[in-house]
Amino acid sequence: NRRVIFEKRPEGWVSEDCFRVEDAPVPELGDGDVLVRNIYMSVDPYMRGRMNDEKSYTAGFALGKVMQCGAVGEIAESRNPKFEAGQIVTGMLNWETHTVVPGGAGIVRIDPALAPLPYFLGILGMPGFTAWYGLLKIGEPKAGETVYVSAASGAVGQVVGQIAKLKGCRVVGSAGDDAKCKWCVEGCGFDACFNYKTVDSVEDALKQHCPHGIDIYFENVGGRMLDAVLTRLNPFSRIALCGMISQYNLKQPEGIHNVRSLLVNKVKLQGFIISDHFDLQPEFMRDVGGWLKDGKLTYRVDVADGIDNAPKAFIGMLKGENFGKQVVKLGDD
Ligand code: NDP
Repeated sequence: NRRVIFEKRPEGWVSEDCFRVEDAPVPELGDGDVLVRNIYMSVDPYMRGRMNDEKSYTAGFALGKVMQCGAVGEIAESRNPKFEAGQIVTGMLNWETHTVVPGGAGIVRIDPALAPLPYFLGILGMPGFTAWYGLLKIGEPKAGETVYVSAASGAVGQVVGQIAKLKGCRVVGSAGDDAKCKWCVEGCGFDACFNYKTVDSVEDALKQHCPHGIDIYFENVGGRMLDAVLTRLNPFSRIALCGMISQYNLKQPEGIHNVRSLLVNKVKLQGFIISDHFDLQPEFMRDVGGWLKDGKLTYRVDVADGIDNAPKAFIGMLKGENFGKQVVKLGDD
C-alpha cells in the first residue's frame, strides 16, 4: 500500500511538504471488513479547511495519519457478505492505493456501465449533487432568468451552468483562463464566460454579459468576486453560497463592502453544506443521471497520474491549474 500522510499544517498556502508519501503494509482483514483497491481518488477544495486546526463542518485531518478522500475502487478482498471481489464501489476512502474498510461501512456499489469511473467523483458524485442542490433548491431558477456562476469550468460550476441552460436560463460564467471560458461556451452551452483575471473590471464584465442584471448567483469564489456581483443583483435575486475558494488560503479574509445591495434588492442569500441533504440524493440521481444518459449533459475531468502526484494535484486545483474536475488515477480501471 502506498499512501499520503498529513505531515504538517499549512499556514496560508499549502505546500508539498505538508504531505509525506510512504509505503505501508496492508492490514489483515477482520470479520466484516473489505479491502478496496482504489482506482480514482478525488481532490476537493473542502480538504483545505480540514487541514486547519479549527472546528468546521467536518472533522479536521489528523496530523501523522493518512488523508481521507472520496474515491472509486474495486473490492480486492471481502470478508463481508454484502460485497464480493471485483465489485466497483465508491465512498469515503483514503489517499492511498489500498484501503481496508471496517465492516464495509460507508461504501456503496456503483454500476460502472453508467458512466466513466471519475464521473462518480464529479457529476454523479458530491460536486454534481452540490450543483444540482444549490441551483435548483436554493436558486429556484425560472426560464428567462440570468444565472451567473463563478469557477464556472470546475467540478461544480460546469454542472451548474448546464442545468441552468436546461431550465431555460441565460447563463454567464467566469473562469481564470481563456481556454476554460471557451470550453464553457462551446462545450457546455453557456451564453457567455469571461476571464476574471484579464478583464479590466469584473463589475464592467458583469454589466456587459448580464445586461438585465443577475437573478441567481451561484457563489464558488467569495471575496472581491462577491462584492462585484452585489452591484449587479436584481430585486428578489437569490445567492446559493456554495464556496469561497478565493479565501481559503488567506490568513486574513477580504472584506465585503456592498452588503447594502442585499437589503435594497431583498436578496435571499443561503449557505449550504451538501452533506446535510443526502435524503435528496435519489432525486438528484434521477435528474442528473437521466440527463447524462439522454446526452443532455457533458462533463470534463482532469486526471493526474499516480498517488505520488496527489499532493501536487490538490495544490494545483486550489490554484486553478485543473481544467474540469480534478481526480488522481491510482490504478487500472
Ligand atoms: P473546482 O473544480 O472549481 O476547482 C477550484 C477552482 O477554483 C480552480 O480551478 C480555480 O478556477 C478557482 N479558483 C481558485 N482560486 C480562485 C480565486 N482566488 N478566485 C477565483 N477562482 C479561484 O472546485 P469545485 O468545483 O470542487 O468547488 C467549487 C466551490 O464549491 C469551492 O468553493 C468549494 O469549496 C465549493 N463546494 C462546496 C460544497 C458545499 O457543500 N457547500 C461542496 C463542494 C464544493 P479558475 O481557473 O477559474 O480560477
